[in-house]
Amino acid sequence: MRIKQLNPSIANQIAAGEGVERPASVVKELLENSVDAGSGDIEIFLEQGGIGLIKVRDKGLGIAKDDLILALSRHATSKIATISDLESARTLGFRGEALASIASVSRLTLTSNDGADNIGWSISPDHEVSADTHTRGTTVEVRDLFYSVPARRKFLRTERTEYLRIDEIVRKMSICYPEINITLSNNGKMTRDYRASGSLEEKVRRLQDAFGKGFTENAIYLDESKNGMRLSGWVSLPSYSRSQSDQQYFFVNARVIRDKLIAHAVKRAYADVLYQSRQPVFALFLDIDPTSIDVNVHPTKSEVRFTDSRAVHDFIFGVLHKILADVGPKDLIKKNNMDQQGSTPIQSRFLLGGMSQAPYSNTAPGQPERIFKSSAKETDDDMPPLGYALAQLHGLYILAQNENGLVIVDMHAAHERVVYERLKVADENLRMQPLLVPLTISVGSAEVNVVNLFSDELGKLGIDITIASDQSLIIRAIPAILPVSNAEELVRDVLSDLVELGSTRRIFERRDGILSTMACHGSVRANRKLSLEEMNGLLRSMEETSRSAQCNHGRPTFSVLTVAELDGLFLRGR
Ligand code: ADP
Ligand code: MG
Repeated sequence: MRIKQLNPSIANQIAAGEGVERPASVVKELLENSVDAGSGDIEIFLEQGGIGLIKVRDKGLGIAKDDLILALSRHATSKIATISDLESARTLGFRGEALASIASVSRLTLTSNDGADNIGWSISPDHEVSADTHTRGTTVEVRDLFYSVPARRKFLRTERTEYLRIDEIVRKMSICYPEINITLSNNGKMTRDYRASGSLEEKVRRLQDAFGKGFTENAIYLDESKNGMRLSGWVSLPSYSRSQSDQQYFFVNARVIRDKLIAHAVKRAYADVLYQSRQPVFALFLDIDPTSIDVNVHPTKSEVRFTDSRAVHDFIFGVLHKILADVGPKDLIKKNNMDQQGSTPIQSRFLLGGMSQAPYSNTAPGQPERIFKSSAKETDDDMPPLGYALAQLHGLYILAQNENGLVIVDMHAAHERVVYERLKVADENLRMQPLLVPLTISVGSAEVNVVNLFSDELGKLGIDITIASDQSLIIRAIPAILPVSNAEELVRDVLSDLVELGSTRRIFERRDGILSTMACHGSVRANRKLSLEEMNGLLRSMEETSRSAQCNHGRPTFSVLTVAELDGLFLRGR
């Protein structure tokens, strides 16, 4: 067989296989183009969930008449010119492929007005250019997606399913770009209307739209910077979790991203306060110098590669770990107070209170405003958050009175956390324990490299390993708190973390697992009678202890019944 050059239209169809998978991928590309064109308004019209028609209209910069044909050609872009432009690209697009790919598998009409001569121009599916009354901006109309690729068309799901995927893409974009008006219509009916007001209220509304009202009432706001990286956004309280990981939005430089490394960092941060099988909810925004990431990893640009992945992992883990550790009874009680009053506390950590700092990198710095006035009265300084003990119930619960009402504490769960956190602090230095008989294990060259690279870090973790050959290692010591019988498994797991992620929390997790069991055995058992003094002692320790709102297994340690709720039980005041 002889080799032939494929004609461009076939080459485009093949390329479209990668980036243009379904209607939602088309919507994503068109939205990104409108964002890159600086449009403050984007309208999306669908027919049959995008299968019949996808039309995206913006009020951006527009395209010059003479560039219309070029815009539809492959490798034609206005966004970069050189490889170094690519390295520092701040635009969402740069590959110059999307329009060409989409046009090769659909009937695409591109209409645009770039402000020159105040007239618009349109290019039809057969590349005929004609004048058009289009005002400043661009409209891309995509009809009959995949009509030319029956194999692809067969894989389309129902109208409803395709619509829902588009809805999800639009929702993520709406959260990322609160300063842009975005509407979505399907079959002539408007289904979404994201108004950009730039106000905090709108951002929260978009977030609520995505995750439900429960999230905004149970989320912590954060905004931390370090070493040129900034992490902001909202994470759920450990008590607000899901069985699925579907409500986890991550944005890198205002780009929707899926990333294993980041998912891992977040999961680890919650490890100590969440049941294994539960998933936190979050919308997190990472801003990082564009030259330290590679966005050109995947045709859909839904993945990035970090130059220093370890630094990114550790930064995200560190920020979240600390914030989750700091959530204490004080915060939760205040929040509870807020729920009752239907208003918001002046409390920087929680969602609305924290909104005074704009969390979005791409938001014009507006004047901070508070959405709701707090009608909650200032807390009485003398009364501790968990109040004072009244009695013990069935040998299981401590009943206490605080300024909101009745506090009910699960005595064992609370004490377990207090003991556990104390043990962790005491054991922070991970003393080494030499093995009586050093253990030789055979490994691959990647592991040997990692031992070379991380020998200092391993030492700090309490592990002493030497390299015996390019295929074997000798384990000489492991942390004293961990059982010798599992030394090999431990070291293998640690090394594979290091190979894959460049960092490891495994030692701490193992240690925490053991301390947690010790804490469980060392804590007050059910049916032990406690004096009022002992009960108050436990309440005060809880207030000072990190993560004390959850026991070591992620269950809550206390709950509050407010006076209003009690009144409700007795139909008082109705
Ligand atoms: P890329 O976005 O990677 O540059 P595309 O194929 O998506 O590639 O678009 C090609 C070019 O067409 C863009 O570089 C841009 O100049 C122009 N373009 C596409 N959509 C728009 C739009 N909505 N507004 C203005 N220009 C656009
Ligand atoms: Mg593009």
